[in-house]
Amino acid sequence: MRVINFNPGPAGLPLPALERARDELLEFQGSGMSIMEHSHRGKEYDAVHEEAISLLTKLLRIPDTHQVLFLQGGASQQFAQIPMNFLTPETSADYLMTGVWSEKAFDEAKYYGKRRIAATTLNADRRYTRIPREDEIQVDPRAVYVHMTSNNTIYGTQWHAFPDVGGVPLVADMSSDLLWKPIDVSQFTLLYAGAQKNVGPSGIVIVVVSKAFMARGRTDIPKVFRYTTYAENNSLYNTPPTFAIYLCRNVLSWIQDVGGLTQLEKWNREKGDLLYAAIDRHPEFYRAPVEKDSRSYMNVVFNLPTEALDEAFVAESKKAGMVGLKGHRSAGGIRVSLYNAVTVDNVRTLVSFMDQFVRTRG
Ligand code: PMP
Repeated sequence: MRVINFNPGPAGLPLPALERARDELLEFQGSGMSIMEHSHRGKEYDAVHEEAISLLTKLLRIPDTHQVLFLQGGASQQFAQIPMNFLTPETSADYLMTGVWSEKAFDEAKYYGKRRIAATTLNADRRYTRIPREDEIQVDPRAVYVHMTSNNTIYGTQWHAFPDVGGVPLVADMSSDLLWKPIDVSQFTLLYAGAQKNVGPSGIVIVVVSKAFMARGRTDIPKVFRYTTYAENNSLYNTPPTFAIYLCRNVLSWIQDVGGLTQLEKWNREKGDLLYAAIDRHPEFYRAPVEKDSRSYMNVVFNLPTEALDEAFVAESKKAGMVGLKGHRSAGGIRVSLYNAVTVDNVRTLVSFMDQFVRTRG
């Protein structure tokens, strides 16, 4: 019996992608072994690798100016790898601070060069409840890049229009919202996402990077940390996480089958709208800290009137077959993650549970 999984990441995966993996687990396409047991230099794995890249390229309409890379080390390694490659002691990078993950990215840059906060929405309670307004963003035109977090997994905020950074290379951590809807990849010089929320299992990071930008990267750092090393070897410089890439292939292929990112956006908006409507029906009971125009369609956060009620909500929802609703340990309350594998029906089930919970506990 599979539960309704609202986990923040690793998150639920679309059932057809898992079923395909199950069917192929012991014997991949008549080859007498699992894809996990194949050489990463063999033709079976190579076909999977190429298909994952080509599906991603097609779904995101990645232009020729950019290249897809599959890396390891999680999104957190990108926090360090980006400044390591592009920042020097003489240059400076700008950061847009919208949550815990932006802070972590900012922190790693100090080892390589100068860094500057171009905007922050940290409030007096030391929390982030909104995305900065355009007029609050002061980008240094000489910055080597501007780093942003497109969706703030913990605080439940999301950029609904990407900032105009006046020609400075824009770098985005899209770990919790890549593939939630179509985007214009050419707006980003580099975007990256740990796969374990919207794209696949943990163990792989998807990077889409401008070829020209990559070519300007430092060469006085170890080869294994240079983007160009992976670009020149089609992400096969060393052994990649073959099974994780295989599962991403299954998820990407499912996305294509259901109608691509336009269809996912429709479902994702419907899911978010249903859930926010339920919250707004009972504003005294379900207290949403995020300003309305910054609300995330991927991670919806709210608090009940007391911590005891938060706990009861989590416990009772679990009995009703729903898991993953406890807020992040640093934020408390409830967090509902609505990544691509969560269906509109799953959200309807949660919403009826919420309406019922207010009736009995409110
Ligand atoms: N960035 C964002 C926006 C995240 O949500 C997370 C993980 N929750 C990370 C970075 C860190 O990812 P990883 O664990 O893959 O390093």
